[in-house]
Amino acid sequence: MILVLLGPPGAGKGTQAKGLEDRHAMVQLSTGDMLRAAVAAGTDLGLKAGAIMERGELVPDDLVIGLIAERIDADGASENFILDGFPRTIGQAEALDRLLEERKRTVDRVIVIAVDDDALVARIIGRFTCECGEGYHDVFKKPKVAGVCDRCGGTKFTRRPDDTEEVVRARLKAYYAQTVPLIGYYEQQGKVASVDGMAGIETVEKEIDEALKGV
Ligand code: AMP
Repeated sequence: MILVLLGPPGAGKGTQAKGLEDRHAMVQLSTGDMLRAAVAAGTDLGLKAGAIMERGELVPDDLVIGLIAERIDADGASENFILDGFPRTIGQAEALDRLLEERKRTVDRVIVIAVDDDALVARIIGRFTCECGEGYHDVFKKPKVAGVCDRCGGTKFTRRPDDTEEVVRARLKAYYAQTVPLIGYYEQQGKVASVDGMAGIETVEKEIDEALKGV
């Protein structure tokens, strides 16, 4: 199965992708994570993408399409993928459709996680991640023992440099201008299900599992 998670920054796409990996045999492909890794490694791609990401704008389509193509091929054609943060423009969605068609595959379901704008900024500012990938929040999801990851027991946490109020506003602007049109694109293909991202994490998980039944 190939599942696309759509939603504004802070909607919980990453959290839900991790939950889907744990509950089902699925692999999360996050272009944001791949780009951050490229920035950390100082590769050519990282150098090109870093400054754009710091401003909260979208990196050029060809760069992210290349990343996704590589990973889909590397992880095997039979895998179940969760695409988290990709596609983000109509150009990326069209390129993805072509890429999958060449591999005799297709996007099976698109889940839109809807969240009120006001909640997004509060959700993003305050979030941090363990090096194992588990996400936390200063207010909404603290580790059970302060400073220790519930999942792996690790103590190294990081915060994203683009999780500041100013950059979040730019990321929201990019979402509404460039990514929201994808909802109509996938509705025309009859693939969209919406879930209420204002509900608790477990309720959203149940809604997503419901939307995947029969796919
Ligand atoms: P994310 O972790 O998905 O919030 O992505 C962080 C940043 O990486 C975004 O604000 C963009 O600058 C960049 N990025 C991630 N995925 C994409 C994409 N599919 N297209 C363009 N830029 C992206």
